[in-house]
Amino acid sequence: MAGKALAALIIVMAAVIGMGIGAAGAGVAKLYVLDCGQNLGKDQSRWSPGVNEGKPIEFSDNCYLIRHDKGLLLWDTGIPDSVAAMPDGMVVANGAITYRRSKTLAAQLEQIGVKPGDVTYLAVSHTHGDHVGNVALFPTSTVLIQGAEYDWAMAGPAKPGFVATQKIERLAGDREVFGDGTVKIISTPGHTPGHQSLLVQLPKTGWLLLSGDAVHFQDNWTHKRVPSMNFNRDQTLVSLKRIEGLLEERKAQLWINHDKTQSATLRYAPAFYE
Ligand SMILES: [Zn+2]
Repeated sequence: MAGKALAALIIVMAAVIGMGIGAAGAGVAKLYVLDCGQNLGKDQSRWSPGVNEGKPIEFSDNCYLIRHDKGLLLWDTGIPDSVAAMPDGMVVANGAITYRRSKTLAAQLEQIGVKPGDVTYLAVSHTHGDHVGNVALFPTSTVLIQGAEYDWAMAGPAKPGFVATQKIERLAGDREVFGDGTVKIISTPGHTPGHQSLLVQLPKTGWLLLSGDAVHFQDNWTHKRVPSMNFNRDQTLVSLKRIEGLLEERKAQLWINHDKTQSATLRYAPAFYE
């Protein structure tokens, strides 16, 4: 009996201590999924060589806003807001892809009471046009980008619209964002030279890994297919292995940004995840 009572006491004490820790270091409070457009691809095999050739594919394109007790982090900015006013969308990649937007990022942030100046960190998975379309909306945010990605993008033909007032933090690998282990940028090169993904711990939802474009849709993840336009195939495969290891280690969910089927199951802002 004494043993049982002691065990019960230990459980109660552990619960009290656990609650104490939860209250003191709130960490990530909320994660919002924002609709950052749609990509209509003419031919899926651009992303899955030899598979579904000539078959069109539609991608979701999400941005994610993370509210931490130490600030706000916006992960990716999607297709340019200006596309919302284009009835036929915007054709890119020599006609291979059409961008569309049903609502702007600015309007979605306003709806949840966030002003651009409130965004502490602006982190981009990589510098393709469907991810950096609205970086100029956040002139006072600190940009978290791999140095390798920044140099590559700024030397290329389609320079992202970073503005002079933004502090650019050039990362060289992983980066803990708020110092408490709950939000961590993970270096996953391959799709582009400095591609990165994001690992987030939410109090109720648990661990999430936001893919960026390390992988574009579930079928490619299952078969570990590498898109033909990727910067480095070997690096891509190493990054996919790394993601697989993290999912296993943290029991994390993989949220594949461009997977339309998966995105359809998510709650979008103003709803949020805790
Ligand atoms: Zn993309």
